Amino acid sequence: MKYAIPRGTRDILPDEIEYWHHIETASRSLFDLYNYCEIRTPIFEESSLFERSIGGTTDIVEKEMYTFNDKGNRRLTLRPEGTAPIVRAYIHHGLHKKSNNTKWYYCGPMFRYERPQAGRYRQFHQIGVEHFGNAHPFSDAEVISMGVHLFDDLGLANLMVVINSVGCKLCRPVIEERLQQFAGSSVNCLCVDCQRRLKTNPLRILDCKKPKCNTYFTGMPDIQASLCNECKDHFNSVLEYLDALRIPFKVDSHLVRGLDYYNRTTFEIVSDELGAQNAICGGGRYDYLVEQMGGSPTPAVGFAFGVERAVLVLQELSDILKKEVSLIYVAPIGFAQQTTCFYLVDELRRSGIKCSIDYSRGDIKSQLRRANKLGASYTIIYAEAEAEKGTMIIKNMKTGQQIEVPVDTIIQFFTNMSKEKSKNENSI
Ligand code: ATP
Ligand code: MG
Repeated sequence: MKYAIPRGTRDILPDEIEYWHHIETASRSLFDLYNYCEIRTPIFEESSLFERSIGGTTDIVEKEMYTFNDKGNRRLTLRPEGTAPIVRAYIHHGLHKKSNNTKWYYCGPMFRYERPQAGRYRQFHQIGVEHFGNAHPFSDAEVISMGVHLFDDLGLANLMVVINSVGCKLCRPVIEERLQQFAGSSVNCLCVDCQRRLKTNPLRILDCKKPKCNTYFTGMPDIQASLCNECKDHFNSVLEYLDALRIPFKVDSHLVRGLDYYNRTTFEIVSDELGAQNAICGGGRYDYLVEQMGGSPTPAVGFAFGVERAVLVLQELSDILKKEVSLIYVAPIGFAQQTTCFYLVDELRRSGIKCSIDYSRGDIKSQLRRANKLGASYTIIYAEAEAEKGTMIIKNMKTGQQIEVPVDTIIQFFTNMSKEKSKNENSI
């Protein structure tokens, strides 16, 4: 019986995993530079955590959550995003009482029941950051600039920051009322979902992906004009700091995010390489969420990016990851030579030398073919003739040059070589 992979999920095979490692390593080292620490939360949480924080009338909560009852009849949900669990952990561990400046990052799988297509899956992975405790526009600008810095480090070109402000408790009702006034007169121009959203959560209609609604909203009055003075000042300061940091951005007064907890700054980082799913990264400020979830009032700002989408862009720029593989292939020729080679690979690996051996292959030709296929830099050849002399042949797979050395100097040969290599790498 053949099993199909669940719809909207993917296996990440070794060909692709290098991109993942590149992204994960660069992210960790950049977050460390900004003094962020990693946090890991469970894959599933109580369903109400997401319902309350993301918002009951969002697409995620209405249509996309993987919710189930466990054997103890608890209602649980596979996390569709990282911020709500992190806020839960922040409160749970009492950090909200210390009014400190907490900077956390996370990496891991998220789950949303969406229509699968390129760059959109049901299990996907996010890497994100959350900065708690600072309401100043400096921290919005710093978080955005950190995202841009990360994508620069990853080698992702042609990205653009798109930014907006969705106001605060004071001015959000004004924005919503204007939206309702604008759309109310011609409700039929909107899709059925948006007709409903217009009543329950008017800002959501701006996030509708249907072309019909999108076109309609191009003529909408500017959200910026409805912001209160404090939100306007905050937004202008963020833009000023981004300018000062020489970060190119575009203000898009229709940009709202798919989650209700955002206030003031919302932003996306988009790439032209991605087609319809063009957002790599999304984020913003969420100053009310900690309090809304039972903690002390704590301002916060963060972002999350989709690893699959970052990998897609990296693959477009395919020469970015041409790593030199330092693999030694060990080729015993003939059954009798296998035991010596079996011990040799163990010793090589214990000395930190990466190597591979294939006990199923016989003649030299097929062994060398295999070595080439694996991208080995050297092959150690050990046939009957060498066994009689107590030597082994080391073949440089790039130049084709061969040298013969005593068996007991093999390890030293490669450890000296790797020492030389790291000396050269470290020299200026
Ligand atoms: P989109 O508008 O593309 O649906 P979103 O606004 O729902 O994105 P967020 O919830 O802000 O996205 O998540 C941040 C990032 O996570 C996105 O910019 C994207 O790169 C990635 N992402 C979101 N949903 C998916 C998915 N279903 N499959 C793959 N990546 C995703
Ligand atoms: Mg979405």
